[in-house]
Amino acid sequence: MKIGCPKEIKPQEYRVGLTPHAAAEAVQNGHEVIVETGAGDGAGFTDKEYTDVGATIADTAAEVFDAADLIVKVKEPQAVERKMLRKGQVLFTYLHLAPDPEQTKDLMGSGATCIAYETVTSAQGGLPLLAPMSEVAGKLAPQMGAWALQKANGGMGVLMGGVPGVFPARVVVIGGGAVGTHAARAAAGMGANVAVLDRSLPRLRQLDDLFGDQFKTVYANPALTAELVKEADMIIGAVLVPGAAAPKLVKREQLATMKPGAVLVDVAIDQGGCFETSKPTTHADPIYEVDGIIHYCVANMPGAVPRTSTLALGNATQPFLMALANKGWKQALRDDPHLANGLNVHDGQITCAPVGEALDLPV
Ligand code: NAD
Repeated sequence: MKIGCPKEIKPQEYRVGLTPHAAAEAVQNGHEVIVETGAGDGAGFTDKEYTDVGATIADTAAEVFDAADLIVKVKEPQAVERKMLRKGQVLFTYLHLAPDPEQTKDLMGSGATCIAYETVTSAQGGLPLLAPMSEVAGKLAPQMGAWALQKANGGMGVLMGGVPGVFPARVVVIGGGAVGTHAARAAAGMGANVAVLDRSLPRLRQLDDLFGDQFKTVYANPALTAELVKEADMIIGAVLVPGAAAPKLVKREQLATMKPGAVLVDVAIDQGGCFETSKPTTHADPIYEVDGIIHYCVANMPGAVPRTSTLALGNATQPFLMALANKGWKQALRDDPHLANGLNVHDGQITCAPVGEALDLPV
């Protein structure tokens, strides 16, 4: 099979859909791999690293789309890329179709078979191709929050780990899932005093069993949350209610009860944010201040560390990619119902019920 990997063209997207390691495995399995020149640059992979493992470099995206049976990417295809897809071709990437009728219409029109990372499931539960990005965003959250806490960036000037004789920063993480757990571990590793709030008692028990004294677990009732908010130097928002907008857990009037120069890091901003005063920001201009509180609300946090993010995503996608290439998409989906859950569009039809429901289209 011919596997094609174009360079990502969405603004500020530096990840790449295929690492040289994955290209090597594909070549070893008898596939032809075509990578657009410069596709790996943003993640620190040179064209030579791809050619060294047997891949071919193409000068343009058009050549990649033209040659490949299977296209592997990171972000949803942009309008110009969608025009290059064709019937019978397989597209494997993040799609996020539910809020995107225009993309959905184009993908249906292309006749291509489109498998979305975000709806692939796993036998253990959860979404294995979203989890790596939650892990990255979670570990990054205290790092960015620590930067925002510095005086020059508007923060109160508190060092995460303190020093002998001086208290460390107090960090409150709301939501103890994939993002929250990695955020809490990273903040605790920096020496901060960390509490994780969740409204799932089984999850809090699990965290307590796994992490013991590294951080405290607290049941997320509104009164207790409000008390902890007042004392916090940094609050990390990491909640998710599947299929719904994030609940607003810190209201604007509560900002006045907080310490001036405290920092809110709203990782849940991609679901609307869990602080009332959150609005999406970018890596180029990541923070703003409301009522003396610094807000960091970057919607694509993993984009700050494209090399780690590419490797983490590649680790998760590679087995599925190899199954699609080695068996052909039909057999691969027959053999693996979790990969089959990734099928969103095939031959002009929506094949994923939540996408159909969201866009009022037949499935
Ligand atoms: P998850 O499902 O693993 O965890 C969410 C947790 O929130 C669960 O444990 C749940 O019990 C808890 N929760 C739900 N409502 C709550 C409430 N009212 N109070 C306290 N806890 C509550 O989800 P995740 O993978 O950790 O993702 C968290 C959020 O981060 C999502 O919105 C996700 O889209 C977002 N995210 C953002 C970025 C970014 O770049 N900004 C990157 C990755 C993930």
